[in-house]
Amino acid sequence: MDTCPLCALPHTPGDLAWSSQHEPDGGVFWICPTCTRAQLWLIEAGMTIATRHAPAPPLPRAA
Ligand SMILES: [Zn+2]
Repeated sequence: MDTCPLCALPHTPGDLAWSSQHEPDGGVFWICPTCTRAQLWLIEAGMTIATRHAPAPPLPRAA
């Protein structure tokens, strides 16, 4: 059974709230809704890294 790689929550097949993530080597893993929200910027960074330009991860702006 697939589990969330971040919190080890078991993935219920067909649960559309989970996000499928494709690795560069062709593998696929699933991230639970809670971790999807927490790691959203990482996911976006990962998708962007696949392009020619890899921007620095977002940093909190100092007030
Ligand atoms: Zn999780």
